Amino acid sequence: MTFTRITPVITAGVTMLVVFFSILYLSGTIKSQSLTIGMAAIGRIPTAPPIEKFLIPEGKFGRHRMARMEPKYITIHSTQNYSATADAYAHARALANGALKSRSNSLGYLTWHFSVDEKSIYQSLPVIERGEHADYNGPGNRNSIGIEMCENSGNSRELTIERTAELAAWLMTRYNIPISNVVPHQHWKRIRPGDQRNLGHKNCPHFLMDNGKPGPKWQAFLEQIESKL
Ligand SMILES: [Zn+2]
Repeated sequence: MTFTRITPVITAGVTMLVVFFSILYLSGTIKSQSLTIGMAAIGRIPTAPPIEKFLIPEGKFGRHRMARMEPKYITIHSTQNYSATADAYAHARALANGALKSRSNSLGYLTWHFSVDEKSIYQSLPVIERGEHADYNGPGNRNSIGIEMCENSGNSRELTIERTAELAAWLMTRYNIPISNVVPHQHWKRIRPGDQRNLGHKNCPHFLMDNGKPGPKWQAFLEQIESKL
């Protein structure tokens, strides 16, 4: 058989196979692994990063009110705690033990939702529960998920930022939060309830601010998050 005579046979055979597998795929008989991988590769489905739950005990410390919250923002912080042992687990443990008291806020404790370091993410509060990490009684506490990036010495800042970006991308997708609502702690004005004193905007997370404000470094972080969406 010559090449010119065999070509139509091959073409017909390939066409029949394509039709056959298309029918199987569309009917749901087969699931395309490559399609799933392909969608993840173009970033439509951010995968949930591994999260260790170490919640503050219900009814205790910063959870004695357990106020419900609709998460509309994600607020990014850094701990400014440079002790070698101050990793994500240590912060989660301190929150769960009631070790982070705060005299000036209405809860009497500092609380936030996630602590992140180079190797892990710990969750201290359900994301539908209000924390005390941003702006006393302002919208940063009433409607935002608080994420603390650890700065313990020896911890990789680069990996911590990467893990935080993964967490933020997943939370955005899960709770329908736009990138415009991913903000640094610096975004929120802090009015202290006791004396109504305006404490201004905190330079936090300091290593993602430029001259104390969101600039090129913050923009690069947002782009890092968007690359995972
Ligand atoms: Zn902060």
